[in-house]
Amino acid sequence: MITVAQAEKIISAAARPFPAVSCRLEKAAGRILRENIVADRDHPAADRSSMDGIAVAFKQWQKGTWRFKRTGVQKAGIPALSLKRGAVCAEIMTGGLMPRGADSVIPVEDILWEKNIATVRSRVVVKHGQYVRRRGQDYRRGKVLLKKGARLTPPHVAIAAAAGRPVLKVAATPRVAVIGTGDELVAVSGRINPHQVRPSNAYAVRAALLARGFDRVTCYQLRDRESEILRRLRIILKAHDVIVLSGGVSMGKLDLIPGALAKMKVRVLFHKVMQKPGKPFWFGVTGDKKAIFALPGNPVSTQVCACRYVIPFLEKASGSVERPVYIRLARAFALKEKKTFFLPVTVQGNAKGQRRAVPADFRMSGNFSALAGTDGFVELPKGPRVYKAGFAARFFSWS
Ligand code: AMP
Ligand code: MG
Repeated sequence: MITVAQAEKIISAAARPFPAVSCRLEKAAGRILRENIVADRDHPAADRSSMDGIAVAFKQWQKGTWRFKRTGVQKAGIPALSLKRGAVCAEIMTGGLMPRGADSVIPVEDILWEKNIATVRSRVVVKHGQYVRRRGQDYRRGKVLLKKGARLTPPHVAIAAAAGRPVLKVAATPRVAVIGTGDELVAVSGRINPHQVRPSNAYAVRAALLARGFDRVTCYQLRDRESEILRRLRIILKAHDVIVLSGGVSMGKLDLIPGALAKMKVRVLFHKVMQKPGKPFWFGVTGDKKAIFALPGNPVSTQVCACRYVIPFLEKASGSVERPVYIRLARAFALKEKKTFFLPVTVQGNAKGQRRAVPADFRMSGNFSALAGTDGFVELPKGPRVYKAGFAARFFSWS
């Protein structure tokens, strides 16, 4: 049986990049950037005032001038005026270009207007170049503003807009099939008998994908019948890029998925991982390199495996460069088994800015209602041992 680290490596190596597609800026938030965004001009593109006030030549102030005659109004959005020599100024608005001949701005708070004359208030000191944002002060033309692999946040979108990019190259969103298996599954709506179960897993996996922007998800349900599994899987495979199955991968007589996939010539890359929950996890690729995840049907196992393996795979194939997140345990946790353990936790923060993971009161892996108060889970490296309070563990969020 392989370890969690080995499973992660095998899955990562199987991640072929999804193609890049064009995306309008309006729709780009949350998508994964597949090109560098480069500055097309200096920013600011010319010297600009950062205050409302008057633009003057510092030399005039140095000479002792404190009353300036207004010879023009430099609004934002017009080309730079020219300032004449002498005790003159241009009234200037925030964002207005510095008039030729002016190099400093005296803010409106520091002057008094009388008709066309701005008088600098007593005790005001003017410094050379004050309240001027110089050309290229933020960045120079040619600078890489956004690197490929970024998941586009609102500031990223603003930067791309400022760089004159109405269309961006982003990762194509894969078509994912989420397939529940089992004769016990019936619709969420409608009547249900004691021998039946509602298919919560497909909803959970779909929700985990949607939360990360993978929104081309279709859910299916298969009965425990090999002929049906084979027939429908073949059709589903054609229409999707990634397949996520849940259930039917353990040792039971009706755990038909590994056998059916073998018959379909899907290459198994591993079956079973030294982990709890989720030991029977199966992973393989088709001849045309589509990944197939077959997750154990136990609801906690399905949800943990979706977040621990499926999401990182989709992000890697999208070209995302997200880094692992770690968190410290709020209290000690004892682990008896020799397996990696995924422990559901609630993240708590305090006013000191510390974040801690509080282990959930969590026993049976089938009892997934206990997940309701949790934010995700931490990965505890294999025991047996006691993980002290303060132990730093890798954290995976449900959403
Ligand atoms: P299996 O992996 O098929 O042996 O399923 C393990 C347990 O998970 C069984 O109790 C199933 O009824 C349950 N289960 C399987 N699939 C689902 C599903 N889609 N939603 C909720 N429970 C499921
Ligand atoms: Mg089953």
